[in-house]
Amino acid sequence: MKTKKFILEEKEMPKFWYNIVADMENKPLPPLHPGTKEPISPEMLSPILTEELIMQEVSQERFIEIPEEVLEKYKIYRPSPLIRAFELEKALGTDCKIYYKYEGGSPSGSHKPNTAIPQAYYNAKAGVKKITTETGAGQWGTALSFACAQYGIECDVYMVKSSFEQKPYRKIMMNTFGANVYPSPSDRTQAGRNFLAENPNSNGSLGMAISEAVEMAVQDEHTKYSLGSVLNHVLLHQTIIGEEALKQFEMAQDYPDVIVAPLGGGSNFAGISFPFLREKLQGKSEVRCVAVEPSSCPKLTKGKFMYDFGDTQGYTPLLPMFTLGHHFEPASIHAGGLRYHGASVLCSQLLKDGIIEANAIPQIECFEAGSLFAKYEGIIPAPESNHAIAQVLREVELAKKEGKSKTILFNLSGHGFVDMMAYSDFQNGNLVEHQLSSQEIDNNISRISNLQPEEIAVPTA
Ligand SMILES: *Cc1c(COP(=O)(O)O)cnc(C)c1O
Repeated sequence: MKTKKFILEEKEMPKFWYNIVADMENKPLPPLHPGTKEPISPEMLSPILTEELIMQEVSQERFIEIPEEVLEKYKIYRPSPLIRAFELEKALGTDCKIYYKYEGGSPSGSHKPNTAIPQAYYNAKAGVKKITTETGAGQWGTALSFACAQYGIECDVYMVKSSFEQKPYRKIMMNTFGANVYPSPSDRTQAGRNFLAENPNSNGSLGMAISEAVEMAVQDEHTKYSLGSVLNHVLLHQTIIGEEALKQFEMAQDYPDVIVAPLGGGSNFAGISFPFLREKLQGKSEVRCVAVEPSSCPKLTKGKFMYDFGDTQGYTPLLPMFTLGHHFEPASIHAGGLRYHGASVLCSQLLKDGIIEANAIPQIECFEAGSLFAKYEGIIPAPESNHAIAQVLREVELAKKEGKSKTILFNLSGHGFVDMMAYSDFQNGNLVEHQLSSQEIDNNISRISNLQPEEIAVPTA
């Protein structure tokens, strides 16, 4: 009998996270202070992040032990299954083997709790009483609300107002886990009040919500701020996905030729691919890793590698990344988790060095692919995950043309049960492709062009 699901026992769960920095030939460039253009010291992050997370952010160690207390919480939904998509393969009539790692079985329905749990744990250990964060579509806010509930920490979520009004179910999920959810801009912060004074009917933005959450964190010594993607320590925590997958491929006596994942900030892509890239960087594997972004937010394929802010308001340190410029406002596509102007420093450096690949795909092709997958495999994917599935179908076509059989692994980063309006819009022909002119991209990038990495004297470590 053929095995469909490769399932690890709880005791086989990996006991460490993998830090790819240890194996990168070109180390990531340091974050810079926007005023002095000098590298920031780790202590400068301490008003918003707790010490152990800052240490992980700057660590050069290859492996970082997962605390026993975090492993206990991971067991609520981990290990996650590696599944062979036999039904999809049959429907496609392909010789390729397609596997997916399913992260939708978690409390929030995505990979996000893999970092929400350790972040809440380290904060609780440091005596933090409250964590503030922002959320767009609500995936990250849901994950952090759950994690905070596990450690008895209060959680305040600033949710972009348009999503707050359009996606009531995500708010109800966060409230169920005990979090407070505020539509942003709110009148609770100075930044929010300023913004409302300017425009009382503002729909909000991720950048504004970040400003509100950061402002609340810096004002109180028992409150910290938390981010759900982009930063090194967030990507680190997600590597539990790929470490499990390595063990599961051993069980399957197989190995991927290609790994595909959607990329918003880079955390789930890093999570599934970095452990395999360790083997590639050590010369033991030739795996190709492809990050997939929406055509309407093409930072990897059309953006520029340069220093830019992580938020729209320009409060964060400058990060060296592929970016469309921090003023870029992506179209309001349904894949809310992929609407971010930049990519994480680690993924950006790896792309620049040609170690990973990237591709941009229009949203209708993604929903077609996701709907096909749902019909044959029985899971309705998150709109973000549909981007990976569309790329898988392209890989299958390519293999056919080349007369090859490939082993393909993709990350099913989440389910789409709270995104059914997106599928409704797709089915009713209400999805439009957002044409992004190169002029528009150039305009946004030129607004930050005084911050190119080659113009900044970066000391070598
Ligand atoms: C947040 C999210 C993403 C994108 O974020 P990354 O940090 O790039 O992983 C992708 N898929 C789902 C389901 C998400 O919730």
